Amino acid sequence: MPTKSSILSFKFLNKKKKIWLSDFLTEYRRVLQAFVDYFWENYDKIKHYKYADSQHYKDVQKITNTYFMSAMLKDCANQGFGIVNGTWKKYKQREWRYNKEVENGKSVEELEYLHKLLILPTKPIIDENVKANCSNVVQILSETTMSTFDFIISLRGTEKRKKTILPVKATSHLRKLLERGTLNRSAMLSEEDVQVSVSIPPLPNDEDGILGIDIGITNVVTASDGQFYSSDADGNSLAKILKKMSNVKGETKAFQRYSTHRKNIINYCINQLDLDGIREVKLEKIKDMRRYKRVSRFQGRWIYPYILQRLKEKCQLLGIKVKFVRCAYSSQQCSKCDFVDKQNRRESRFCCKSCGYEADADLNAAVNLSKR
Ligand SMILES: [Zn+2]
Repeated sequence: MPTKSSILSFKFLNKKKKIWLSDFLTEYRRVLQAFVDYFWENYDKIKHYKYADSQHYKDVQKITNTYFMSAMLKDCANQGFGIVNGTWKKYKQREWRYNKEVENGKSVEELEYLHKLLILPTKPIIDENVKANCSNVVQILSETTMSTFDFIISLRGTEKRKKTILPVKATSHLRKLLERGTLNRSAMLSEEDVQVSVSIPPLPNDEDGILGIDIGITNVVTASDGQFYSSDADGNSLAKILKKMSNVKGETKAFQRYSTHRKNIINYCINQLDLDGIREVKLEKIKDMRRYKRVSRFQGRWIYPYILQRLKEKCQLLGIKVKFVRCAYSSQQCSKCDFVDKQNRRESRFCCKSCGYEADADLNAAVNLSKR
């Protein structure tokens, strides 16, 4: 099942927990290095294994004299095993390619280039940038009693019968992912944050291959199958750039730079949009730009047609039909029960006053478009 990851900050941890986390990670990296050393030395013996096994934990526990218990050692061992295995696998692939090219009778110069890549790998070094990859020892629970935090990351395996609890706040990114999938039992821990992942069931593209797409500013595009894109690879969102642009004068260098960035974000978002299996895309027919007034008239007049143009080009390239449908009430109507009410929409959330259906407002609108 495809997974998506989300990063939650530890900045709200109290001082005591921060110190605990830092001490834990120092020990984890020390033990992880010991596992890497161990698997590196014994690679010929263990290379046919799929996972590390309990004899390995015991050996490393003796060498390191760590206080970690076997549950924690298991995670550490598997991460170390993965690092060593991955390093050799990459080398083997290069070697395989080289031999293949020799067979194919490649020229001496080309082979020389490939041969240069065939340097034997050196033992990986675990530095302070390596995150602890925990799954066996971690539990992620929704927090219902403390209103200020949304999840607790519960870790075992450092002390007998004791769990350490690290509270975190959810982000809107994670909330959106959770509407579509389920949280996995794994966490990549660093001093600053924890990376969690969500398994998302492949979305049944509407049986008839029709996809509604809502165009906006917070989310550049939101599709009725649950895809949404708001920012570029570096996490810069369109909304953020537009806010910056509103603070600089036109015709300045800064404005030009932001304009380029704005285009890049939109293009990136549209590239990300997966239209596999889609035969028709439904977009709203917009008569006026009132919806975009929030960002100033000038921006609205530019952004909507630009996104639309890019979307149309993409569809044309893929042979997908584009249909414009009426947009009246698409943001106020419930996509589950069709009840229409102004009150249904509250900022970025949709909450039906009739059936109680709750969703991201843009997603609800996109589903409505897909049905028109
Ligand atoms: Zn409803």
